[in-house]
Amino acid sequence: MTLRIAVIGGGVIGCSVAYHLADRGLGRVTLFERENLGSGTTWHSAGNITWKPHSDDDAPVLYAYDLIERLEQNGMQSTGRHRMGRLFLALSEEGLGGFEAFHQAASERGVDSRWLTPRDAAARHPLLAEGAIAGAWFNPLSGRVNPSDFTLSLARAAKAHGAEIVEKARVERLLETGGAIAGLTCNGESHAFDRVIVAAGLWSRGLTAPLGYPAAQWGCEHFYVIARPDRKLDRDTPSFVCPEALLYGREEVGGLLLGLFDEAAKPLDPATLPEPFAFSLLPEDWDKVAPYVEAATRLFPTLSTAPISRFINGPESFTPDADPLIGVVPGTRGLYICSAKNSHGVTLAAAAGHVIADLIGEDEPRFAIDRYRPDRFGGQGADEAWLAEAVSHTPSLFYRAANTENRAD
Ligand SMILES: Cc1cc2nc3c(=O)[nH]c(=O)nc-3n(C[C@H](O)[C@H](O)[C@H](O)COP(=O)(O)OP(=O)(O)OC[C@H]3O[C@@H](n4cnc5c(N)ncnc54)[C@H](O)[C@@H]3O)c2cc1C
Repeated sequence: MTLRIAVIGGGVIGCSVAYHLADRGLGRVTLFERENLGSGTTWHSAGNITWKPHSDDDAPVLYAYDLIERLEQNGMQSTGRHRMGRLFLALSEEGLGGFEAFHQAASERGVDSRWLTPRDAAARHPLLAEGAIAGAWFNPLSGRVNPSDFTLSLARAAKAHGAEIVEKARVERLLETGGAIAGLTCNGESHAFDRVIVAAGLWSRGLTAPLGYPAAQWGCEHFYVIARPDRKLDRDTPSFVCPEALLYGREEVGGLLLGLFDEAAKPLDPATLPEPFAFSLLPEDWDKVAPYVEAATRLFPTLSTAPISRFINGPESFTPDADPLIGVVPGTRGLYICSAKNSHGVTLAAAAGHVIADLIGEDEPRFAIDRYRPDRFGGQGADEAWLAEAVSHTPSLFYRAANTENRAD
């Protein structure tokens, strides 16, 4: 029997899921996107793919690069991939020590990462003030993609393997019979499906909650700005992260993209977002970003005069432990969720699609999946006040930990 499989959501995650299912021939795959592909959170992502040597982080990133390369070679739409490496900047000796385990693990794997003096780091990044840092660790495997192009490339590859991709197709609700998924309604019509994967990003919780699974994810506002210093950056300039200042960034069309993982991030109830919310942003919040831009100005003094040409405030979904929700939805056979990517969705998309295909194909999982289990929060996902409070700390707590040896898990 050919399985009828529905994927809900045409962001980078849903397109990767559809591609992996179709590529493996697991059934007749239909992806439903209520607006246009990539129009939710994906289009405004910074698109960084950061390699970290810890084994759980390493495998999904290496697989992402592998898939991106295959998509490029198969003549699908270009993904905008570029590997320029990343500077892990330390403001103090203690901060520098936080990268020690990364360096050791990278060396054991034969990766040519290296310690840089402040002067060497400034030689690689022409806007960086060498006096502002204690040193840096350079990781050569990190890079970036253009998130929209990556998404379209996955969608094209999915179609080439037989998946059907339908835009302007809004799923209103999931249908269930006797504890198993039976299908869904889309634009007012019912469709029968044997397997359904909810990959609707911020909006996933609203779809699964009526079936008794209020996913433990909540929205937060998430920011970056693009500054236009006098001196243009070269595309090969390494990206950077500074865990002590909760900052990251990279070159963007010659300018400097500066992102932040703020403390006390502003929670956002996805149900309050206007509809349609396609290629949309949230209002600028200068008070929120000002202290971070000030801190960044010490690292990159040119920011004190550089005009800021864009302010991106986009919604993203987070979980209390910063791991995504990927796997079987408890209580409804045949229903899966692939959501809540905690600002790493572009990086995780390839692995997330693979995980869902492994589960549906009943194959040996390629990646460590226990940490992604959708049932790990028990009934706490129903507690909206708890969720909103918990996720407001996720971006800063976990970003700091994940970018040093102080792993949060
Ligand atoms: C400012 C910012 C910077 C970021 N930078 C990075 C980065 O550098 N690196 C990185 O890896 N990640 C980054 N991210 C995170 C990344 O962008 C997200 O994790 C990722 O885009 C989430 O993809 P998604 O497919 O889950 O969600 P989305 O892109 O939101 O896709 C969900 C889709 O589902 C559709 N949908 C919703 N409800 C329905 C319905 N009922 N029926 C049909 N369709 C529906 C929506 O229209 C939407 O297109 C960043 C995020 C932000 C906000």
